Amino acid sequence: MKKLLSILLALTVLLSLGASAFAGNDDTPDGRWLCSDIDGSVTDDTPAELKDDFHLYVNKDWFVNTPLPDGTLGYGTFEEMNDVLDERMLALIHDESLTGHDAELVHKLYRLASDWDYRDELGLEPAEKWMKAILSIDSLDALMSYLHSDENLTRSILFTSAVGADMLDPDVYTTLIVAPTLMLQDSAEYTERTEAGEQAYEKNRQISDYILRRLGLNEEEAAAAFDNAIAYETLLASHIQPQSAQYSPDYLMSILNYYDRDQLAELAGDFPILDLLTVVGNTSAKRFMVHEPAFIAALQDIITEENVPLIRDWLLVNNMIETGKRLDRETYDEVKAIESRLMGITGTSDDESIAVNTVKELLEVPMNKLYIQAYCNEEQREAVLDMVNEIRNSYYDMLNATDWLSEETRAAAIEKLDNLRIRAIYPDELPDWSDLDFKGIEEGGSLLDAEMAIGRYILENNAAKADTAVDKDAWDLMILPTVTANAAYNAQDNSINIFAGFLGGVFYGEDRSYEQNLGGMGFFIGHEIGHAFDTNGAQYDKDGAYADWWTDEDKSVFLERAAKLAAWYDGFIPFEGCEYSGQQVQTEAIADMGSMKCLLAIAAQKDDFDYDAFFRQFASLFRTKATLPAIIGNTAVDIHPMRYMRTNATLAQFQEFDDFYGIEEDDGMYIAPEERVAVW
Ligand SMILES: [Zn+2]
Repeated sequence: MKKLLSILLALTVLLSLGASAFAGNDDTPDGRWLCSDIDGSVTDDTPAELKDDFHLYVNKDWFVNTPLPDGTLGYGTFEEMNDVLDERMLALIHDESLTGHDAELVHKLYRLASDWDYRDELGLEPAEKWMKAILSIDSLDALMSYLHSDENLTRSILFTSAVGADMLDPDVYTTLIVAPTLMLQDSAEYTERTEAGEQAYEKNRQISDYILRRLGLNEEEAAAAFDNAIAYETLLASHIQPQSAQYSPDYLMSILNYYDRDQLAELAGDFPILDLLTVVGNTSAKRFMVHEPAFIAALQDIITEENVPLIRDWLLVNNMIETGKRLDRETYDEVKAIESRLMGITGTSDDESIAVNTVKELLEVPMNKLYIQAYCNEEQREAVLDMVNEIRNSYYDMLNATDWLSEETRAAAIEKLDNLRIRAIYPDELPDWSDLDFKGIEEGGSLLDAEMAIGRYILENNAAKADTAVDKDAWDLMILPTVTANAAYNAQDNSINIFAGFLGGVFYGEDRSYEQNLGGMGFFIGHEIGHAFDTNGAQYDKDGAYADWWTDEDKSVFLERAAKLAAWYDGFIPFEGCEYSGQQVQTEAIADMGSMKCLLAIAAQKDDFDYDAFFRQFASLFRTKATLPAIIGNTAVDIHPMRYMRTNATLAQFQEFDDFYGIEEDDGMYIAPEERVAVW
């Protein structure tokens, strides 16, 4: 479901240098800073000088003394905070005095997830009926009737459809049509497999093989099913743009393809696209935005009688892999063991954390409501809004002082800042999920059936929004859950969203100093505002419409500056064999640097500002460690610079940092002023 939601909004969520300008580090592949994100890369003996590698200097003790928790592939400040949130949620889950429908749902799901005796009693049975239905598909007609039937576990329709704000008119919802998510994540992996692609392939192959054999297929059948699934995705992939296309400044323009019902039907030809949309509850939408028309046009030649065995096996593999976490202990443990072997994970998570994560994942909205009612208050919101205002004011100063902007573009940028929508901590109105229900243990329910019921409920609610008006004042907890250590900018309503999960831990606390809070949550507030003016956000106007408010000249200067930034990041080689893509991390790096610039401007206006506390807090935000396989997989898709870069590459752009610590030309943190790459 997360995959579906991530395409709903233009949402950006947090989480070449001349050699002469860089002192150089002989121990790293790029001569730059050590990639301390990799677990085990820092030991007692690793030199950590403040002036050479600030991130390592501040966090060395943490790197050396904090082992990866059992069962995890990565750990850092965000996970630390999420552990605190998990504990609070667990307390709510165990609080029998909580009443009401949300509490009932949460308690019921928690029992389905945590009662392993019950899960073992059900065994594989919850998955068997769904599998049987897929295996009976033996013709195109049978395929279509399966897709329309109640036996279609995930309401698969062979492409992905979701209803989201219209890119050109963000006051109305429109139906988006996109290609399905591929097992190897990126269509480019089907022609030339990278290490990350190989990793995803192996993981899916081994899990699929294990589950299908447990469900009764023999070795040969299970292997053939996976091969068929990949063969089908290979057919699809040749019509899907590679992931790298998304990082191009022209990408948004390329997905603006609008169709009415007749035009969409004509585009799809023999592929019954309108008919299939009814499977997800979208029965009468009038307007469609098709990201890749060439893909939709190609489906009629792929969804054929001849390819039915491939499509059937693709449905089988995809659906059954998803059930792996929802069945009995043996299945759960083996799926985890496969992931652990491939991803370098040691140990396993405890049962409480498995159960709380399941509740969080499937019932995020009811869980968020309970959390808000128990832990959030108006004072917190006021405190966050005060901080937002201070940082927004600094952005005004920055825009006013930017010498490469014409007055015309500057005025439009300021108007965009005027119109910034701010959501802080919790919505005024909480959503009503009273019409969702599923069977608990008493009624003989299963975790898998509960997941299916919740998934369908979300799909139907989403589809019902097609062509209706967007209420920009509303806060949809489904898309913007607040119980997470995070924040988000949504370009389609020009909003920053600061979540409750930041409060009461390492990011923000009433017991922490002003400088710590500014270098903590304040940094992310500035970062999210910065997304309004990165190469993606800058293509949307003050109301969230995809519209050009730049003069040609200003835009070309802006894009040149952004290209210089991307080229500089291209030079990083965090680990041997990594081809780091500056374009992939460009928007996030722009937002990081924009935020730091505004925070330093605020600092300059304060008497006795404690720069050391501020910089250290900032560096500690990004301490993290993960297994090398996890890093390889993540680097292929993450649009954020690696964490050690987020500290060092950001700070190295600023004279204030150099001046405060006396950084000079021979130091690793030094970048000559003319080689700095901050866009703003
Ligand atoms: Zn971001």
